[in-house]
Amino acid sequence: MKIIMLGAPGAGKGTQADRIAQEQNIPHISTGDLFRANVGGGTELGMRAKEYMDRGALVPDELTVEMLFDRVAAEDCRDGYVLDGFPRTIPQAEVLKKELEKRGDRVDLAINVDVPDENIVRRMGGRRACPKCGATYHIEHIPPKQEGICDKCGAELIIRDDDKPETVQKRLSVYHEQTQPLIEFYEKEGILRTVDGTKDMEQVFSDIKALFA
Ligand code: AMP
Repeated sequence: MKIIMLGAPGAGKGTQADRIAQEQNIPHISTGDLFRANVGGGTELGMRAKEYMDRGALVPDELTVEMLFDRVAAEDCRDGYVLDGFPRTIPQAEVLKKELEKRGDRVDLAINVDVPDENIVRRMGGRRACPKCGATYHIEHIPPKQEGICDKCGAELIIRDDDKPETVQKRLSVYHEQTQPLIEFYEKEGILRTVDGTKDMEQVFSDIKALFA
């Protein structure tokens, strides 16, 4: 099954994508995580992506698409995947559609996790990330066992540059301009389903599970 998660940055797509991936036994592929791994590894792609990420802009489509297709070509993606953070523009959605069509394939489901901007701003202010292993936390909703320390690897948690308040505002306007049109795109494809992302995490997940029933 090939699933796309849609929603504003901070809507909780990543958390839900993780749960879906476990439940369906398919990989969770986050282009944000792939970019951060490249930034952390000091690759050329990482260095090019970082300048866009740090100011809340989108990385150019050609860099993003190449990275994504490399990843989905891997053996573990044979039975499907959950894409989180891709596509983020109409051209990305069109390339994905075309590439899948070449193989007689298609996206099965686009899940829109709907959360108003004011909730997003509140949520993202509380986000913390581990610079070492990439784990993410929230000071209210998913706190680490020990304040400021990663449960998984013990590193000191940070506020990512792209979670800082001025960057959050910028990312929201980028979302409305470039990514929100995908809702209509997938609606026209007949595969869009919307869940209320303001509910608590467990409830959102059970609403999502109901879509598979
Ligand atoms: P995320 O963790 O999904 O919020 O992504 C963090 C940052 O990575 C975004 O603000 C963008 O700069 C970049 N990024 C992630 N996915 C994409 C994409 N599909 N297209 C362009 N840029 C992306």
